[in-house]
Amino acid sequence: MDFSNLEFWFLVGSQDLYGSEVLETVTRRGAEMAERISASEHIPCRLVFKGTMRSADEIARVIKDANYSDSCCGVVAWCHTFSPSKMWIEGLRLLQKPYCHFATQYNRRIPYDEIDMDFMNLNQAAHGDREHGFIGARLRLGRKVIAGYWQDEAPLRELGAWMRAAVGYKASRELRVMRFGDNMREVAVTEGDKVEAQIKFGWQVNTWPVGYLVEELGKVSEADVDGKMAQYREKYELASDNLDAVRYQARLEIAMRRIFAREGIGAFSNTFQDLYGMRQLPGLATQELMAGGYGFAAEGDWKTAALAAVVKQMTCGMGGGTTFIEDYTYNMEEGNEYSLGAHMLEVCPSIADGRPKIAVHPLSIGDREPPARLIFEGKAGDAIVMTLIDLGGRFRLIIQDIVCIKPPHAMPKLPVARVTWKPLPDLATGVKLWIMAGGGHHSVLTYDATAEMMKDWARMHDIEVVHLTKDTTAETLEQQLFLNDLAWKLKG
Ligand code: MN
Repeated sequence: MDFSNLEFWFLVGSQDLYGSEVLETVTRRGAEMAERISASEHIPCRLVFKGTMRSADEIARVIKDANYSDSCCGVVAWCHTFSPSKMWIEGLRLLQKPYCHFATQYNRRIPYDEIDMDFMNLNQAAHGDREHGFIGARLRLGRKVIAGYWQDEAPLRELGAWMRAAVGYKASRELRVMRFGDNMREVAVTEGDKVEAQIKFGWQVNTWPVGYLVEELGKVSEADVDGKMAQYREKYELASDNLDAVRYQARLEIAMRRIFAREGIGAFSNTFQDLYGMRQLPGLATQELMAGGYGFAAEGDWKTAALAAVVKQMTCGMGGGTTFIEDYTYNMEEGNEYSLGAHMLEVCPSIADGRPKIAVHPLSIGDREPPARLIFEGKAGDAIVMTLIDLGGRFRLIIQDIVCIKPPHAMPKLPVARVTWKPLPDLATGVKLWIMAGGGHHSVLTYDATAEMMKDWARMHDIEVVHLTKDTTAETLEQQLFLNDLAWKLKG
């Protein structure tokens, strides 16, 4: 995702009542604010001032333009003066882009010595934004409300995170997911309604036979493989003599890149149960593709693959890392409880602490040759894990706050990439809550996207979201899930 081509539109609410002098000041200030907000390090995309809104026609026109603009990812509104909200009804009814109401004020302080009625007329955001807030609530508009001074760090961080969520919404609506083969046989949580997913998220999820990939493998030249091997040597420590196995993964990576470019693919899945005509399960190849921004999840799990792609797009350039992961095994030693996450092979090296090494080991599942893979430890730090489940009739995004830790012991015999974490508030509670909410074994782990960002994203798609925090208890969660069930039945 190229953030430099993306923008958000800034609409400043007013009306004709104030006379041209006031409106000129409002316009000048709106332009200044958009420019200065755009320059903030917390703001990932340009905020473009689109004018002072004085009438219903004007508002409807600019919102229709926003809907059809490919570069506009969302609309930010603020009312410098009072802007009667019936004027906004038609525009907001037509709005198809994420919406943020930024309740702020041009001046930071009340100028006690000079304040007069002219000042009061010009600076009415305190009640203008309340009028605007009402119509958002009245229209049941899925919106973000941010309040605070427009030059302060906290509201700008919040606005920046919301912008990233909106970029994720755009990425979602454009995402194509390629499935090599179907879901792993008999597995439930990786299933789901692909038509509903396309309606809700925009994800185009389709299946290609693995033979399509095998055919492409045959077209990759030895020289192409040599080039890819040189890249591997530069980035990773080559810790295997089995170069033939590594070269096969290079061939897989090149072939998949070509297919993805041809078909406009942003995420993919495969399954070890459908490798017909292939020598190895893609391991290193998949890890490299994930590091390059592709979403992936194993065993046909297209929901997690798509979610990973969206998170990678929205957090582009943040540098913390995002991967597909699976809860594998626990350490349940009293006072030292944590979860060890990994997968058969496919963990993204964007989360690696240090330089990953390439190794070749048997898979001990399936019937193919030992695949080459990257082995590393995930880094320490605050993160979230999340998963998307299909409850039949609706999707639920489950987000859990976690702390990734440096593994307390070396694991010299474990030949896969892994990351160790503690769910909040503790392992037993975290596991209990995750299971109560219906979270599966596959998830997306990210050090970049915050829970707030993902909740904004979920709101844009109008899906259920459950956030498991250090303060969540089994009692509150049970109540929340019960009420959510009722609410979503009513919502249809
Ligand atoms: Mn798995």
